Amino acid sequence: MTEPLRDQFGRGIEYLRISVTDRCNFRCLYCMPAAGLEWLPKQDILSYEEIAAIVRQLAPLGLKRLRITGGEPTIRPNLSALVRMLRAIPGIEDIALSTNGVKLPELAAELKAAGLDRVNLSADSLRPDRIAAIARRNLGFDPIRAAQAAEEAGLEPVKINMVVMRGINDDEVEDFARLTLEHPWHVRYIELMPVGEMRALEWSHVVPSDEILARLTAIAPLSPGGGPAKGNGPAAYYRFDSAPGSVGVITPMTHTYCGSCNRVRLTADGRLRTCLYGDHEVNLRDPLRAGADLTPLYVQALAEKPKEHHLLQLQVGGLKALSQVGG
Ligand code: SAM
Ligand code: SF4
Repeated sequence: MTEPLRDQFGRGIEYLRISVTDRCNFRCLYCMPAAGLEWLPKQDILSYEEIAAIVRQLAPLGLKRLRITGGEPTIRPNLSALVRMLRAIPGIEDIALSTNGVKLPELAAELKAAGLDRVNLSADSLRPDRIAAIARRNLGFDPIRAAQAAEEAGLEPVKINMVVMRGINDDEVEDFARLTLEHPWHVRYIELMPVGEMRALEWSHVVPSDEILARLTAIAPLSPGGGPAKGNGPAAYYRFDSAPGSVGVITPMTHTYCGSCNRVRLTADGRLRTCLYGDHEVNLRDPLRAGADLTPLYVQALAEKPKEHHLLQLQVGGLKALSQVGG
């Protein structure tokens, strides 16, 4: 088994988040302006063959886990073709997908057959009118149906991510938690990051995770642990007695995870970003198209990976929306 390449602070990097598009069929309040963003020109976007070629070069350097994200990855045609190419790369142990779930009922079985392991589904409400208001689009999205489609296709463990926004959807925290009493689903509450150019939301909309956990404890006793066996990442998990699923919190606003960061990101136009925030990025697309060896560029990028970001101090540079860098 290949040991992951280490950065200058000794962090082993084994996880790549791959954005396959900056576009989306939603316009979530916290992510994109209602009018959308300035989309990348098609010729700038990596083809599936180019994405696979990059992963093929990086896997021998210890890359083991991939997440396909965006924008909304499922709006890119024939996504399962990419999954199939990535699955065939030696050393890749886990391939996950982050999606808003709109197309999951249609695509889950096909993606599983192509070699996808599991999904993270974003769902900020269980109420149709509110889903449409938060996404600023009414596409008939049904989160329960999407999660069931993923489970039935064997895309497990199914994780459901809810961005909690005060006064907008925080009254549904308990409803989401109750899903874990009936289903083997892992509901994760994400602290809203009021960053970038999506000024529709402010600091006053942030609900700290301690407040969320206090509300969950009022439903029934919660024990720490019990999260999914695969891809635990930065979430802290809890479980209600004998519940098949778990609840977790992801706390970008009240904690940073920089000390144990094991990831880098590839943007849809082929820039390798070693930190979610800031301007640390390396163009891999042009060297790849010129036939160059990417190894020295990757090694150099990891050597320069920053120790930490300064989101908590709001020194956020060069980031319009998480959708531009793959969440
Ligand atoms: N479109 C896919 C989706 O929604 O899952 C994948 C891309 S989306 C940018 C990835 C994740 O980032 C989603 O779970 C979304 O809720 C989260 N996200 C985007 N902007 C955020 C923000 N300002 N604060 C907290 N989470 C955010
Ligand atoms: Fe699209 Fe995901 Fe951003 Fe919502 S969070 S606008 S679904 S990319």
